[in-house]
Amino acid sequence: MRTPDPTLDRRALLRRTGGGLALLVLGPVAAAVEGCGKKALSCVDTAGLSFADAQTRVTLQYVDRALDPAKPCRTCRHFRTAGEAACGGCEVVKGPINPGGGCQSWAART
Ligand code: SF4
Repeated sequence: MRTPDPTLDRRALLRRTGGGLALLVLGPVAAAVEGCGKKALSCVDTAGLSFADAQTRVTLQYVDRALDPAKPCRTCRHFRTAGEAACGGCEVVKGPINPGGGCQSWAART
């Protein structure tokens, strides 16, 4: 008679795969949500931009969340705010700009 292999216990297997599956499914959702269920501001819609303006975003490596936390758009001289909870604008990079975003053309205010 075979003795059950403790490493193949169904509960343990479900726990392991269920946990991994939950991370796989809920990870991106959790990343899009900040704090107490507040949805993160997204300023990535470039549908209304010309090809050249959209290309500038790519060339200057605009991202919706600054790679350098010390240099977010909200502190850049080129940023035009529409409030902290709304997409603003930029003199250099056209289209919606996240106050927490960033790009290669960040410049300190003088
Ligand atoms: S130049 Fe770059 S860092 Fe500055 S506001 Fe525009 S997109 Fe943000």
